[in-house]
Order: sequence, then structure tokens, then C-alpha cells
Amino acid sequence: MFLSFRRMPLPGGGLFLVVLILLAGCTAQGLQKASQALEKTADALDQAAEPVAGPDSAGKMIRVPATPNPPPTPVEPVETKPLETPAVEPPRFEDQGDFKLGYAESSDPTANEWMVYLKESRHFEGIVDGLNAFVALPRDVPVVFQDCGEANAFYLPEETTLVLCYELVSELQALFAENTAEEEDPTKSTLFATEFIFYHEAGHALIHLLDLPATGREEDSVDQLATFLLIERGDEAGPGIALNAAAAFMLWSSLEEPGELAFWDEHALGQQRFYNIACWVYGRNPEGFANLIDDEVLPAERAESCPDEYYKLSMAWARLLEPYLKEGT
Ligand SMILES: [Zn+2]
Repeated sequence: MFLSFRRMPLPGGGLFLVVLILLAGCTAQGLQKASQALEKTADALDQAAEPVAGPDSAGKMIRVPATPNPPPTPVEPVETKPLETPAVEPPRFEDQGDFKLGYAESSDPTANEWMVYLKESRHFEGIVDGLNAFVALPRDVPVVFQDCGEANAFYLPEETTLVLCYELVSELQALFAENTAEEEDPTKSTLFATEFIFYHEAGHALIHLLDLPATGREEDSVDQLATFLLIERGDEAGPGIALNAAAAFMLWSSLEEPGELAFWDEHALGQQRFYNIACWVYGRNPEGFANLIDDEVLPAERAESCPDEYYKLSMAWARLLEPYLKEGT
């Protein structure tokens, strides 16, 4: 049996202690490393924790600052290259579409339990509403939870459809349930990790539909976008949600051979994604997340460049999206 679901409201309250975790009883070397990283992450989250907004408010508050905060005092003088701007700004266009959330029926009882739970929690309704209030689209993009036959999530450009597989949600639940301290709530972690993955796939949709240039390798770009949206949307929970997803990627990579999971095939290794996300979260708020600096989480050498790295990626994404932002965002 899988769920001892806590009914709504979902996230809120004490940050993903979830990640505190871990792995008591696990002996595999990879898991020990993941454990150290995740414990450190949890410490940082505790340190940075403020009262956390619930999902309903979280989804409505996406904001891209017109001028993202400058990086707080880089350790070394940062080479300032002007960010590239398009010679001609694309015209602002009329909003003609929305992300449209749906839940497919399944013959699998576990998937159906998820379907009922996801619907009742309205967690993703808030997230999708927030994104729709933020960015204009040329057409609708169905966002469908459904059976896939694999633990995966993807954007289908031919159908302009974003698919989140029930199998992925179940696998995340199992991953967190196995590696989370008993008093923690693996379901909350599962929702948060799925939320990050939704933003990641929404990034693929935006790049496709808005014909955006990726800010590097597309898979890395959309991880940047997911982290950027979570951090800048204006609630305290965002950075922790990004770190929670990073924890899932680290756990996954500890448990699976690279490439073994379809979701990973085109992506950086889980550990790399973990370090990247930790770097960007730290880079946005070095004081709040100073505890992330650790050889197993965010090596000091990498941390030095993180404020500049986050500043550049946030500027790039803010400029790329600016023509498509709705009034009032
Ligand atoms: Zn992807």
C-alpha cells in the first residue's frame, strides 16, 4: 500500500525536513554520499526557513523582477560582459492560450489514488494558474497526468502537450518513503519534486512555443528556468522546493545507473543537477543558504561563482520572457 496521505492543505509549514532524512539503515556508498548531501541541504533549509506559504498562494505569485537582484558581493571581481540582447525585440503578442490541467483515468488502483489525491489537493491547479497569469501563450498546452508505462515526464511538441506520468509520481513517493525519516512526509516531497519537474517540462514548452533560444544546453536551460521561477515567484517556499527536487535527483542517481531511467536520458547526471540547483539557490541568497557550502553539497570553489552564475541566468531568462509576460507581472 502506498499512501498515508495527509489531506489538504498540502505543503506549508516546516521546510522539507523531508530532506533531513536519511537513509538510516542504508549501507550503499552512493547512498551515504547522498545522505551527507541531503542532511546538509536540510540544515541549510532549516537555517533559511521562514514561514512557508501554502501551495494556493505559491502558485499565484510568480514574478520576474524587471531587474533581478544583483549578485551580493562576489568573492572576486566578476568579469562583466554585457548580456546579449536581440537586435530586434520580438513583438509582444496577444495571449491566445493557457496551460490546461487534466487527469486521465487509469486502470491501475495506485494511479487512481494519485489522481484523486492530486485533484483534491489542487496543488497543481495553483501552479498552473500562476503560470497562466504570468506568461502569454500562442495556444493551449494540455498538462496531463496519465499512465505512461514508465516513470517519466515529457513535453510533446507535435501535440503541444505536457505529460506527467503517474508512474513518476509513484516512483518519487517510493524514493522519498524509503529514504525519509519516519516523521517526515514523503508525499509532500513527492509533490514538490513533481512541481519542479512540471516547471522543467513547461520550460521545454515555452522554448518550443515562443521560439526562445535556449540559454545553453536545453536540458540545463529548463532546469535553470524551473529554479528561477521557483526562486523568483515571491513566496518563501520556492528555493526549498528547488532543493527538494535536487535531493530527488541526487537520490535517484545514487540508486540507478545513469541512463537507466528514461527521465534521465537527455539530462545531466543527477549529481550534476543537484550541484547546479544548489549553486543557483545559493547564488540568489548566499547569506540565507551559506550552509549549503560543503564538499558534498556545494564545494566552496563552485560556490564562489554561484552569485554571478545565478545573476546571469536570471537576467537571461527575464529578458527572454519579457516580451511574453502578461500585464501586471
Ligand atoms: Zn527535459
